[in-house]
Formats: sequence, structure tokens, C-alpha cells
Amino acid sequence: MTNTSSVQARREATLQRADIGAGFYNLVDGQRLATAQTLDVIDPGTGAFLAKVPDVDRSDLDAAVDAAARAFPSWSRTPWDVRKAAVGRLIETLGEHVDELATLLAAEGGRSIGVAQWEIKWITDLYGSALLAMELTEEGWVQERVGQVVKRYVPLGVVCAISPWNLPFMLSFLKVLPALLVGDTVVLKPSPFTPLTVLRAVDHIRELLPPGVLNVITGGDRLGPWMTAHPGFSKIAFTGSTQTGRRVLGSAAETLKHVTLELGGNDPGIVLPDAEPKAIAETLFWSMFMLSGQGCITLKRLFVHEDLYDSVAQGICACAARQRLGDGLDPEATLGPVQNRPQLNRLNAAWDEIQREGAPVLFRGETPAGGEGLFFPITILDNPRHDAPYVAQENFGPLRSIMRYRTVDEAIQKANDTPYGLGASVWGRDPAMLDAVARRLEAGTVWINQHLNPHPDVPLAGHKASGLGVELGPEGLRDFCNLQIIAARH
Ligand code: NAD
Repeated sequence: MTNTSSVQARREATLQRADIGAGFYNLVDGQRLATAQTLDVIDPGTGAFLAKVPDVDRSDLDAAVDAAARAFPSWSRTPWDVRKAAVGRLIETLGEHVDELATLLAAEGGRSIGVAQWEIKWITDLYGSALLAMELTEEGWVQERVGQVVKRYVPLGVVCAISPWNLPFMLSFLKVLPALLVGDTVVLKPSPFTPLTVLRAVDHIRELLPPGVLNVITGGDRLGPWMTAHPGFSKIAFTGSTQTGRRVLGSAAETLKHVTLELGGNDPGIVLPDAEPKAIAETLFWSMFMLSGQGCITLKRLFVHEDLYDSVAQGICACAARQRLGDGLDPEATLGPVQNRPQLNRLNAAWDEIQREGAPVLFRGETPAGGEGLFFPITILDNPRHDAPYVAQENFGPLRSIMRYRTVDEAIQKANDTPYGLGASVWGRDPAMLDAVARRLEAGTVWINQHLNPHPDVPLAGHKASGLGVELGPEGLRDFCNLQIIAARH
């Protein structure tokens, strides 16, 4: 057997484990929905066709929104403990299918099985237990001029949940589960690039909820704008690029919907002069290249003090040299492909510009030979201008920059010189200095001696062009509610 055919045989066996042949359905009003028109989903690591999914039309969207609206009165009045038990059963059932879901996610997302399992378990284990421990407690007090005041959080209505392709399972269920817990009903739309894991997951839980409480639909470029303009939604929970987020906000304004926008980022990291390069190089590398750099909160621009620049850069490049790029189901691959063609085109355009300008390159890795996979080599730029377009834009792939600085003020100014404000990090030893620098960074989350470490109990909110509203933590749960005040004079 040739090497290529053994790879093919391994793929087929693995995909049988995910039962690709069983098909992928939408869920509307408790019923599986298949449509005549379909979209193809491909494996970005090989270019191989994986499966077809429904491409819904406007009437299917209307049916999903109507079903969710019909289900809302009863679901929103269902006692908290009953809803909580139902959400607990959803989480438990998803947890029973980790292997199958991770196999699908590795294939369509182009990531290793290990990383895919991490994503599924992040929801079923870590997030699930944190969410089920949360409460929406009413608060009451007496206000002299107003009377007896009660502050409570009530369900909003039908939520439109739209998720991107980079963490399709996590970012879909981060919206669905809290929305259902607080009493909203949901219509979910995963990205057309990565719908399989989410559709299969919803199929596993479809009989655990009353019809219409959770609906999932898939479609091409026209579906998102139809949804955000639809008058039946009370809220849009959106994760995606800043460019699309602006369109979503504009569209939501017409019908005055609530919005949560988790958008793009160009996270800086600052390595202070007292940091220990050897101790942090590997963590820095993975903070930059996890998911092949396709993470909103991956570290994208690293500023290193001139005294440490060479040793930090060497340590990161040594980690880069140990990586092997391959498709999601290749057990030897440590990093995967870019997930889709438009994204790869953007990275290639940036690389063309880097070469035209003759910007120095610290490291340029290799891609697997032959095949149709969407690979971009690990690329690390050597002290480019911080305002060069290929540094200032969000590089959503394995293209990163390390930049030298002389004074901490200069590093902070350059780190903040971006329209984005999602995450940032500071690396060093002196706690007072680390804290002082962290407080001057313009980002929703500033990590100290770590990056890319979200936790279900810790709210995540973008500053500047990185978003509006909050996900995770109790604040994220309240974002799915209307605030209601009852003020009584007796
Ligand atoms: P994208 O904006 O292209 O698409 C996101 C989703 O919106 C997809 O489901 C897409 O089909 C849909 N969509 C596209 N056009 C739409 C429109 N006009 N109206 C409504 N919906 C529309 O983003 P992407 O390429 O899928 O994801 C990558 C981006 O997401 C990056 O910018 C990344 O930083 C960001 N992201 C942010 C976070 C966060 O928490 N802040 C997390 C992950 C990804």
C-alpha cells in the first residue's frame, strides 16, 4: 500500500466513526429538515468533499423563527430548576458523543483530534458545570423616594445565534446553552464552512427539548443578513469579524434588537526586560499559533525589549521548527491547515506584500508536499514596522510578528495603536510592574504571564472595534436577559 492510499484508508475509517453517511439535517420546530438545495462542506486539510448540508430559503427561516416564537411563552415560564435540569441533560448527552463530534470537528475544521476534543470538552465539562452553577438572583431593596425596589432578569424572546468557523462548536453552544437556561428560545446558524459538528450535536439533543425551543438552520451568504433583519428576533448573539459585526449592528438597528458582538482582534503581548526567555518561549509560541493562529484571542503582535529580543525570538523559532503541518486526521500533525480558501487568499496576499516590501523574516516553515490542503507555512516576521498593513490587520492564520522596543512607554503606545481591543498580555517577573503595564493596555482582557486562557466564569468582552456586550461569566448570562425593575409604594 502506498503512503497516500494508507492515509486515505485511515481517513475513511476515521470518518466512518463519525458516521458521515448518516447525513446532516437542520432542526425546525422539533423536526429534521432537509432541503433540495444544499451546500458542500470540504476538509481543508485534503480538499476532499465531506458532506452536504441544507441551504435554507426565507420560508425555512420564517418557519424556524415562528416555531421559536411559539415555544417562547411556555419555555420562558418554565421554572428555573426544570430548565436547568433540561440544559443539564443537553450537556450530558453532548458529552456522550465527544469522540464522534471531535472526529467531525477535526475533519471539517482542520485541527488535530486532540484540539477538537479539547473544544468539545471545554463546553461539556468546563463550561457545562460552570453554567449550571450560575443563578439569576433577584435583588431587592428599599429606596426612599421610589419605594420597595426589586431588580430581576427576565428572558428576552427569540435569540438569533450566529457563529464563525474557527471554534464552531464552542462558540455556538456558548450562545445556545445560556440563552436556553435563562428562558429564551433560539435559532442558531453555524458558519457554512464548518456546520457539520454543530448539526450532528443538535441532532443528538433534538428530542430532549420541546419543539421550537432550539432550531438550527444552515445556508450560504444570504442567510446571515436575512436573519439579522428578521423582525421576529429580540436579540442577536454574534461572533465573527469586525467587518461583518458592523453590518450586523446596522441591520439590527432597524428593528432595535439587543446585540452582543464578539469580533476580531489583533492582540499584543509585551515582554518586559526582567522576563526569562527560556521559561516563556514555548507558552508564547502556543499563544501565537494555537489553531494555526486562527483564534480571536491568539497573540498576534509580540513586543520584546531589545535586551531579550534575540533570545525570545530564538526560543519561539525553535518551537516553530518542531511543528509538523498536516490535515486534522493525521496523527502526526501538530498544526493544521487554514480552514477556508478566502482566509488562505488573505494570508497569501499579506505574504506577497511582505515580499514586495522586503520585510525581514525570522522563520518560514514548510507545508505538506502535494495534495489540495489549504496550508500556509508558519511565518514569523523579524521586527517589522508595527504599522505595516500586514502587521496592523488581523492575521487570522499562522503569520505573526515579533517587534523590538527600547522603552516600556514605546511598547505600550505601539501595542495600543490598533482599532482592536480584544486581548493583550504582559510577561515578566516584577508583579507591580506587570500590573502597572496591564492597566495601561486597551483591551477587554489583559493576561499576565499567560495569553489565550478563557474561563467560563470569567467574562470576555471586547473593547474598541472588538465588540459590544459580554460573553461568559454571570455578566454573559445576564446579556441574554432584559433587566426589569418592580418598584412598589405600599
Ligand atoms: P465572519 O464575520 O465572516 O462570519 C461569521 C458568521 O457570520 C458566519 O456564520 C457567517 O456566515 C455570518 N455572516 C457573514 N456575513 C453576514 C452578514 N452580513 N450578516 C449576518 N451574518 C453574516 O467571520 P469568520 O471568518 O467566520 O470568523 C473569523 C472572525 O471571527 C475573526 O475576525 C475572529 O477574530 C472573529 N472571532 C471573534 C471571537 C470573539 O470572541 N471575539 C471569537 C472567534 C472569532
